[in-house]
This record gives sequence, structure tokens and C-alpha cells, in this order.
Amino acid sequence: MSSSFVIREVRATTVAVPLWGVLRHSNGAHWGRFVRTVVEVETEDGLVGLGELGGGGESAEAAVRSVGQDLRGHDPFQLELLRAKLCNPTASLYNNRTQIHAAFEFACLDLIGQRLGVSVSELLGGRLRSQVPVASYLFFRYPDPNGSAEEIRTPEQLVEHALWLKSTYGFHSHKLKGGIYPWAYEMDCYEALVAAMPTDRFRYDPNGIYSVGDARLIARRMARLPNDYLEDPTFGLEAMRELRREGIPLATNTVVVDFEQLATNVFRRAVDVILLDTTFWGGIRSCLKAAGVLDTFKLGVGVHSSGELGIQLATMLHLAAVLPNLDFAIDSHYHHLRDDVIVGGKLAYRDGCLAVPTGPGLGVRLDPEKLAIYSDLYRRTGPYPYDRDPARQDWVPLVPGQSFDDPGRQVSAEEIAARLGRLA
Ligand SMILES: [Mg+2]
Repeated sequence: MSSSFVIREVRATTVAVPLWGVLRHSNGAHWGRFVRTVVEVETEDGLVGLGELGGGGESAEAAVRSVGQDLRGHDPFQLELLRAKLCNPTASLYNNRTQIHAAFEFACLDLIGQRLGVSVSELLGGRLRSQVPVASYLFFRYPDPNGSAEEIRTPEQLVEHALWLKSTYGFHSHKLKGGIYPWAYEMDCYEALVAAMPTDRFRYDPNGIYSVGDARLIARRMARLPNDYLEDPTFGLEAMRELRREGIPLATNTVVVDFEQLATNVFRRAVDVILLDTTFWGGIRSCLKAAGVLDTFKLGVGVHSSGELGIQLATMLHLAAVLPNLDFAIDSHYHHLRDDVIVGGKLAYRDGCLAVPTGPGLGVRLDPEKLAIYSDLYRRTGPYPYDRDPARQDWVPLVPGQSFDDPGRQVSAEEIAARLGRLA
């Protein structure tokens, strides 16, 4: 390759893209928007590779720019060297750059693909599937601060929302995000979903908030339902190992997120299904390496969603396309977004699936107008505390949880608007 295929400039832009409502989880909430940092890596010969990271409500711009300075002159083909530059294990004790590395890896793979005229999934072994099944992601939510989306709090509201998503996007698998209310109430909601869609599959994820004792009772209540798995009902590998005696398949995206934890889980099995995240694991290639280990030890594989826009979503679709052992519909928050920053707007679902992009590289391009609009929205609204609930001022998410919300407590759109400030 010519010497002009080296990194000339790195740009980082933080955006806030609005959601349909304030999505609640056991550790706080997504405050009506996803905050993401979009990374553009430009080479001397003018190609631009895309990366993305974020998800915790804060900007990663400063860290990306700082790392980007040191990557000037780097050849995007040198992916192992990139890893060595950013993820030295001792340096990482001070500056954990796993997710920053992931964003640069995405951009370098995008550049290589554009340079060679092939898609990332072709680079990584070739697509085994061109359509990727996606699970609906069901949240309890506060009403939209602008009044354009209803609250989801009761089993009836949840079922109505799930049926609407199913009829609109075609989902056959459904994930309920929980840990907000006492577990027995959430199991009432989960059972209502199963009753409303009896031929579909289900998963429940309260983000590690319940005690081992409560998680055991949840596992017993779910035992006869059409579950994909029970995801992180309690926190910690040993807690999950204790729970595994109940016999229900357990999944995680929190306690097995690196190769050390994966080795521990191989030697002392605690979790059955590992949900690979292209940012948590440090890139698409790390996820593929992990998937090889999972295949060897016959552990299950899924794909986790960390609140992605279309750029990271493309990395998830390319990963899903090449995984021989993808056992489940992937997760994505994508249908909760009102818009995207990629050319052409949001990727479209068909029969519960998203198509793997086929263009060179990641196959998605940045829309500069959308980037400007949502960068401006971020400037006006700023970061948000992912681990706080905008409508429960003094509440702090202890683990295991000590104070769950009252399912009878109703919060109006006006109250939410007052807490958040209007977004538009
Ligand atoms: Mg999870």
C-alpha cells in the first residue's frame, strides 16, 4: 500500500440524539437522549473511517483527541500495533482505553475496507448471514418530556408497547429491562408479555440489582417460560455461579467482559451465555477471538447493545454476520432512537431483522448535517448522570438494591420536563 494510507487527522464530535422517552434501568436512566462520541479518522489520501463510543451519558471527546494526536502517521492496516499503542496492560491500570481502542479499531477496519473495496464482514471471514435477528428492547419509561410518548409502567402499557413494536418492526424475541420495581411485580409484567406473544422468545435483564436470594426466586418463577436466558439478575461471578444451580440459562454483559473473566468462567462455570459488546471488549476482533473461546467450551454467544448509533450498530451487524456460533437475536436499543447521524437516516428493520451493510468498510457514512444538529443539541443539553433517576432526586442505586420504586407512582410529562429541561 502507498505511504499516503496513514492517519493524518482525528476528529471527535460528541452528539446527543433524542430518544422516545426517558428509559429506566436499575442503575438510573437514559435521560431522554443518548450521548455518543463520533470519531472520524482521516488518512493522508482523504479516506475517512468512522468510530463511535459512549453510552454513559458523558463525552469522550478529550480522551479521543489526546490519543488521536499520537496516532498521526499510523497505518490503519497495523491493527495489532494499534492495540499495543493503546492497550498496554500496565499502562491500562492508569488509563483504561478499551473503548477508545474499540472506536479506533472500528475506524481502521472501515478505512481498510474502503481501501480494498470490501465490507468489514468480508474482511473478517465473510458473511454467514446477511440479515441479523434483533430482539425488541422493552423498558419501563417515564413519559416523553415533550409529551410525544406515553409512560410505560403497568403490565397493560408494557404489553401494548411490545405489540406495537412487534407489528411495526416484526420482532420475534423480546428483552425486558427491569430492576426498577420489586421483582414480583416485574415478573407479573414478564408473564403478561409471554401471554400476549406466546410463540415468541423472551429474556429478562435487571442489570445485577437483585440479591442472590431474590434472583433465585426470579429464576424459579421464570423456569417454565420460553426464555432465551436470565441476564445478570444478580451481580458478580460467584453470585451467578451460586444461582446457576437453579438450572435456568444465565447470561451476562457485566461480569465476563474480558479474557481473564472468560478464563475464570471456563474453569468455574458461572454464566452460560456471554453477550459480546464491540466497545466493552475493545473492538470487533476481540469479540471474534472471544467467540472462538466460547465455541471451544460450548458457551452461548449473544451480542450486547450499549446504546449505539448507526456506526456502532454497523460493527455489531458485521460481527453478527461472521459469527458461526451466534445463538440468539442480538440486542439493540436502536428502535428507541428518534434519528441517527448516518446518511439516509436510521437503518430499517424487516421482519425483526436488520440487514448487514454491504458497502465498503462499515458500509455507513456520516451525515454532516445530522452531526451538526446533534452536536448542537449536546452543547445545549450537556452530559447526564447515567446512574441517577431524574424523577427520584435522593435515590442512589445500591447493589443489591435496597429501595425499589412503587409501581403505583405515576410521573407526568410536565414533571419530567421540569427535571430535564425541554430537549427540543
Ligand atoms: Mg445487560
